[in-house]
Amino acid sequence: MTHCLNCGAERDADVCDSCGLATTAAEFSLRRKLLNRTAIFVLGGLAFVVASGRYPALELDEILIFVGVVFFLTLGLAIWVERRAIRHGEVEALKRIYFGLIPVPWLLAALLLANGAFDSARPHAERARVVGKFSMPGPVATRRLAVTSWRESGKLERVPVDRVDFDRTFTGDTVDVNIKDGLVGIPWVIGVSRH
Ligand SMILES: [Zn+2]
Repeated sequence: MTHCLNCGAERDADVCDSCGLATTAAEFSLRRKLLNRTAIFVLGGLAFVVASGRYPALELDEILIFVGVVFFLTLGLAIWVERRAIRHGEVEALKRIYFGLIPVPWLLAALLLANGAFDSARPHAERARVVGKFSMPGPVATRRLAVTSWRESGKLERVPVDRVDFDRTFTGDTVDVNIKDGLVGIPWVIGVSRH
């Protein structure tokens, strides 16, 4: 007893009672669905990267690394499902997990946008000293100021900034990092002003 690759119904003959597709047709149907949903998932990943820059989280780099790992694990799952489908193996459970993960990057993008857009709390400024700056050009440019931390962790903060703040700030400057705490508790950076 296996599940139909197309509709997921249990079946014991080559032709599925439920949707009427033979094993090979069901395999093609599943692979087409996988391709379409993977396109939606990849677009969601791009949407997330773009959206994450709108109200940049203070811990943007950690968030991007975490989401990147989840993204590639999910793509790996898609490849695994397809490999099994080609061999006409059992994919029902894996397929459901994969399809369930498709909206995740879209939801995370919406979460970060809502976190900034509906944040009505007052901003607060944190005094810090710039110890380094780095930028990476590209379609979604990355600009960070490395500053001394005002938090208990005591590590350096990698503050995401826009081009204007980046260009007018220099290593050794003392700056105020203007921060809002975020609707869902993800602190984000409004900007940096030189002190
Ligand atoms: Zn079927």
